[in-house]
Amino acid sequence: MDSQVGPGSQDFVALEARFGARNYHPVPVVVDRALDCLVWDVEGREYIDMMGAYSAVSHGHLHPRVVAAAQRQLHKVAVTSRAYHGNTLGPFLAKLCTLAGFERALPMNTGAEAVETAIKCARRWGHRVKGIPDGQAEILVARNNFHGRTTTIVGFSSEPEYRAGFGPFAPGFRHFDFGDMASVRAAATPNTCAVLVEPIQGEAGVVLPPPGFFAELRDWCTAHRVLLVDDEVQAGLGRTGKWFAFEHEGIRPDALILGKALGAGLLPVSAFLADAPVMDVFDPGSHGSTFGGNALAAAVALEGLRVLEDERLVERAAQLGPHLMQRLQEVQQAAGPLIRDVRGRGLWVGVDIDPAHGNARRLVEQLARNGVLSKETHETVIRFAPPLTISAALIDRATAIFRDTVAAWRAGRD
Ligand SMILES: *Cc1c(COP(=O)(O)O)cnc(C)c1O
Repeated sequence: MDSQVGPGSQDFVALEARFGARNYHPVPVVVDRALDCLVWDVEGREYIDMMGAYSAVSHGHLHPRVVAAAQRQLHKVAVTSRAYHGNTLGPFLAKLCTLAGFERALPMNTGAEAVETAIKCARRWGHRVKGIPDGQAEILVARNNFHGRTTTIVGFSSEPEYRAGFGPFAPGFRHFDFGDMASVRAAATPNTCAVLVEPIQGEAGVVLPPPGFFAELRDWCTAHRVLLVDDEVQAGLGRTGKWFAFEHEGIRPDALILGKALGAGLLPVSAFLADAPVMDVFDPGSHGSTFGGNALAAAVALEGLRVLEDERLVERAAQLGPHLMQRLQEVQQAAGPLIRDVRGRGLWVGVDIDPAHGNARRLVEQLARNGVLSKETHETVIRFAPPLTISAALIDRATAIFRDTVAAWRAGRD
């Protein structure tokens, strides 16, 4: 057992280890409660949440307006299934479509389900509208993509760990190199119906596209009648300092996938958005989800969108993003060769640790001991994605702790 875990924590860690599947390797912090950007463990120790649940907690933990909206709805109705209409779903979809600039939205629960929705929609559009023979439609996906964990989705992952032993996989996906138009052209065939891509590759280590890539990709998709499907499950809803990351690229995709922050830190809520000529390939019976768009989820997500707007959290990410970046670059300058890159956009930054000089996982664990929550991704990258409600002062506190953690690591190693 990890030496940092105190007596109360140990019991909970042991219970998870004894009765839980071993599909995660959590940082050894046992969370008891959280509010806004702070988290407390079962021993009462306080942490600054610089992880934001992979962007699911963009509103901060238990935002009072979102909690109030949930409580109001819990006195009325939570789940009826889509067998009936409700008075929260329509207002939620209307708000979402208006904000994102699409004609229609299809609500699901998890991000992976919204990606599956996008795949079904793109294939059926490819067949019925573009005229690709049924069962032949192909979707181009980027190497090092992350779109979720269903068998279809991991089937087109390029990460061996996500795939090993889970086949057979669904055919119909071809890879290109993220940011490389020549590679997109080489992967395309007359049966290509869509390009499915993240605007910034999150799990791959916060990898930004080269300038101009998305503009070129947009033009190419238009010219070849290929749908540009933008997975903003992690990047969307203000994280990058704009409502949607595609706005940084000066383009508009044909379809948009949202999740994580759409649930306002309370519930799993995701959505697939497109205009009518694309979305209308779905007819009654062709797709659905028992919990998708349930009354409680819709009420929570609607309030979450209003909070982002009313509290100007997108503008806040745009203002504080450069501040976070600057503080982390200062840490990098003081860290010598330990940190080989700091990159990101808005309140979303990856700190790339050179494995010759340090270990991202152990740094993350040390950082947690010092009171800051983060998470490693792709072995070498420490990801910072705090709630958009964070203050400059709290960013300063968290990055000072990171600076001291890095300094102590180097003192112990050099
Ligand atoms: C997290 C994520 C998903 C999957 O979302 P889940 O809710 O975990 O199913 C899909 N796409 C991207 C870009 C993500 O970051």
